[in-house]
Amino acid sequence: MTGKIKQIAILGSTGSIGRQTLDVIRNFPNRFRVLGLAAGKNKELLARQVGEFKPDLVYFQGDKAKIAGMGSGFEFMPPEEMAGHPRVDTVVIATSGISGLLPLMAAARSGKEIALANKEALVAAGSIITSEVKTNRGRILPVDSEHSAIWQCLRGENKKPARLILTASGGPFLHYSREKLRDVSPDEALKHPSWQMGRKITIDSATLMNKGLEVIEAHHLFGTPFAKIEVMIHPESIVHSLVEFADGSIKAQLSYPDMRLPVQYALSYPDRLDNRHIPRLKWDQIKSLNFAPPDTVSFPCLEMAIEAGKRGETYPAVLCATDEVAVDLFISRRIKFTGIAHLVEKVLEMHRAVQSPTLNDIIECDAWARETALSLADSNVLC
Ligand code: MG
Repeated sequence: MTGKIKQIAILGSTGSIGRQTLDVIRNFPNRFRVLGLAAGKNKELLARQVGEFKPDLVYFQGDKAKIAGMGSGFEFMPPEEMAGHPRVDTVVIATSGISGLLPLMAAARSGKEIALANKEALVAAGSIITSEVKTNRGRILPVDSEHSAIWQCLRGENKKPARLILTASGGPFLHYSREKLRDVSPDEALKHPSWQMGRKITIDSATLMNKGLEVIEAHHLFGTPFAKIEVMIHPESIVHSLVEFADGSIKAQLSYPDMRLPVQYALSYPDRLDNRHIPRLKWDQIKSLNFAPPDTVSFPCLEMAIEAGKRGETYPAVLCATDEVAVDLFISRRIKFTGIAHLVEKVLEMHRAVQSPTLNDIIECDAWARETALSLADSNVLC
């Protein structure tokens, strides 16, 4: 890639990761160029981004008319098409939830470099995606901080790791009992102690569902069996994950918790770039680093997710879809915080898995799970 400016398409450019990706690109105009921007909610911000980065391809949810007034010199293009566009080198998939699935599939089919921040799509359709990536000689570059850490630890190693240890901050309700968790509000759940993130992932961090999804994500990204993936609570969010090797040696990646670092590493790989805007760790301010096993009784989503991952087939798709609905219901105060786990458990129990699912089966099970979750919530089964 040396000497050539990398052409980047960002799907979900107005979200948290999208904005941080643009922040990285802004600092390295000689290495990266924004070729495409796609967003679905924030039209004003997208218009500002288009004005600053002057992409050739633009999408805003809906139709072409919605981007009128954002200027000229660009083409309207839906995300699936943008993800496979011949001039795109790297696709950053920064949308949240299952909306990332079809663009991810399109990027995989076109053999692109995929900087993947959306975990749900990979969780829901893991083996379909990874085999498409392999067939078309593309590559997934992890953006999730834990997976970026593992990826960095695995560099230069020629044997499979003995164990992956994903760290979790534990979220805002670390040490809460199950009873105390019943009455927590969406506002409390949206206050993450160490990371600035979007709403869906912040709630998922509070239930530990996020960590369960990340275990499945790690399984697909690194081809590691579930039995060799562990989770450890680490409230300081300084050690982003660890890898143990055959001889018992453990490598870890540490840095200040700032998503721009894993985003930048995915874009600049195999190089490391000096970005003075990303804060450095100050050792005199770190008093201690703590590690503890997760509380799986108060936070049942973690094991539920890992179990769905182990069962495979269409269970992970149902897990993701139900969780997405449950998080929305919680944010709109229609179910309690503990109702998220109840709803996911109930829908997983009701699900009849499709064996060796196609992408279509995954999409159908996703729709079934959403419908089922909403009707269960409406009938107050969870109260
Ligand atoms: Mg993460």
